[in-house]
Amino acid sequence: MVFFITGGSRGIGAGIVRDLLTAGHDVAFTYATRADLAADLTAWAATHAPGRRCRAYALDVRDSSAVERVADAVLADFDTIDAAVLNAAINRMGLTISMSDEDWREVMDVNVTGAFYVCRQLLPAFLANRSGRFIHISSIAVYGMAGLAAYSASKAALCGFSASLSKEYGPKGITSNVLTLGFFDTDMSRELMPDKQKAFWYETCPAKRMGTAADVSQAVLYLASPGAAFVNGETLHLTGGLRWAP
Ligand code: NAP
Repeated sequence: MVFFITGGSRGIGAGIVRDLLTAGHDVAFTYATRADLAADLTAWAATHAPGRRCRAYALDVRDSSAVERVADAVLADFDTIDAAVLNAAINRMGLTISMSDEDWREVMDVNVTGAFYVCRQLLPAFLANRSGRFIHISSIAVYGMAGLAAYSASKAALCGFSASLSKEYGPKGITSNVLTLGFFDTDMSRELMPDKQKAFWYETCPAKRMGTAADVSQAVLYLASPGAAFVNGETLHLTGGLRWAP
């Protein structure tokens, strides 16, 4: 299969890229600023998954014309795309009372509008194939988290967006599902997750651990597999059993 992953340069996205390659798939992934990490990952692919195609594309998902150019380039390079993982996201901490217009807009532009641009651009290829899988990466923040109002709103918006895609394009053999992640040890959580929330997580998560990229990759592989053709418009929680956050 050919996978397209936004935000594959680091964190969970990079883990998904590696796991899909080692599972025998071809991967096109994007990065926004970290060309160095993207190059490291394609070099890793050449060594660890030599028979597989892996290419990195610079993309700011806020730019619809850039999304169009990159999607065209990926389709030219790989001939097709079978599944897209909408993973690129940012976070801005701050209580609602003091959140700036810029922070709110930036989070919405990357996390929601970016996913919309990518899905809209890939739909013609998915429709032509009468097949395609959208896998949206959301967060336990959909239940609301103090200090993360914009991020929480953006991740809840993805659920509504995905559900709409499932209804518009399910009849054409296309599915859209959401993975709602708990806490994972990445730049995003290291930089922005307060110690209080980390302590809460370890105390209350039934699994008593943070998630790993492999936890996400396995779910991505399932949702992209032929066996998941009848799974559409769903939300799968990868939270170790925890269903709410402080
Ligand atoms: P991360 O380490 O901060 O990585 C974010 C990725 O998004 C990077 O590849 C980054 O590219 C890319 N990106 C940032 N801004 C972009 C833009 N404007 N256009 C295109 N790409 C952009 O994040 P992560 O922790 O791995 O999170 C991955 C996903 O899991 C996100 O959707 C996040 O909301 C979700 N999630 C994470 C956690 C967690 O605990 N970490 C929990 C719940 C949900 P560069 O490297 O080039 O900057």
